[in-house]
Amino acid sequence: MANCLFCAEPLRRTVVDLGMSPLCESFLTVDQINHMEPFYPLHVWVCERCFLVQVEEYVRPEGIFTEYAYFSSYSDSWLAHMRDYAHMISARLSLRENSKVVELGSNDGYLLQYFAAKGIPVLGVEPARNVAQAAIARGVPTVTKLFGRQIARELVAEGDQADLVCGANVLAQVPDVNDFVGGIKLLLKPGGVVTIEFPHLMRLMAENQFDTIYHEHFSYFSFLTAERIFAAHGITLFDVEEITTHGGSLRIYGRHIEDTSKPASERATKLRAREQSAGLDRIETYAAFAEQVHETKRRLLDFLIGAKRRQKRIAGYGAPGKGNTLLNYCGIRTDFLDYTVDRNPYKHGRFLPGTHIPIHPPERLSETRPDYVLILPWNLKDEIMEQLAYIRGWGGQFVVPIPDVKVYP
Ligand SMILES: [Zn+2]
Repeated sequence: MANCLFCAEPLRRTVVDLGMSPLCESFLTVDQINHMEPFYPLHVWVCERCFLVQVEEYVRPEGIFTEYAYFSSYSDSWLAHMRDYAHMISARLSLRENSKVVELGSNDGYLLQYFAAKGIPVLGVEPARNVAQAAIARGVPTVTKLFGRQIARELVAEGDQADLVCGANVLAQVPDVNDFVGGIKLLLKPGGVVTIEFPHLMRLMAENQFDTIYHEHFSYFSFLTAERIFAAHGITLFDVEEITTHGGSLRIYGRHIEDTSKPASERATKLRAREQSAGLDRIETYAAFAEQVHETKRRLLDFLIGAKRRQKRIAGYGAPGKGNTLLNYCGIRTDFLDYTVDRNPYKHGRFLPGTHIPIHPPERLSETRPDYVLILPWNLKDEIMEQLAYIRGWGGQFVVPIPDVKVYP
């Protein structure tokens, strides 16, 4: 039996069992698709003591992080979101030439470039070598390490203590959450602020976003659980924003427990109350999630079977991690989906893990004119339907699988 990543309580309560799945970022080359492929259980647990929702760690993090295919810079709306954040937080904290911004999980430098352009000194920490190289190439200084207390101590010793520590979509991927948050405590200057963005568990459950669960995401946080974890490491969450990215995320604001200059916001008080009334502090709430997931699988398969019986051709759009969870869990292969397309050239000519669906450049759509395009990154559906409006020219329609199967003529 596994133990809770945060409080070490034995995990006894299942949230949902998504069966066996390969690592979602392991895109296969044409040579690899005839070989054996590792599949791991994708079983989601909730801790009865601290309510941290988590996936058991079956794969050592080095295997996941050394070459990571996701380059943050490939989504327009994501770039705009992070640019807005850089402007907002620089003004709110009055960051300037003698400040220091450290981003954890800095990817290809997509966020830090906006601070650097304002003359604010930056440092990225990014464990995936190939994306860290891309950051360094664009002039964003980057340490290629997995963040934790050890790296924090080294950075502090080198004079890199931070006015702002930030991270977006990194907390879920941290294999040792105590070492990570403990590292933030060390890295933060006495009056410093940490902001972390992560998908909001309350939204994940309310809107059935089960496909955002994958092996690379070890944990899934409510505000209540995040508060408990940060407090255990001497950090008080004094503010929180609800933002729209990744189907609904939180941006939490933390400060040292000793820093009384930043009072708790009304937003934090209200969100805490809403999570309590949504039942996120009661174990029964988590037990109800699985049936909702099973029903979505039945509905999506119903639609695809019906479309194929009518001789329709279906292509996918995107090759995100969430797509791989969805396709593997539902057993959707080239019997339903002819291929998928993606803007990231790294993925072209490769195949989705497990389902072996080929990935092509977006131009493939106009060459083959499919009847349906299944949008796998449904969180970007508005942006994608706008970009691909031309498929309507041949009567093509969009299908969005989450929160519920929906066709957009
Ligand atoms: Zn726990």
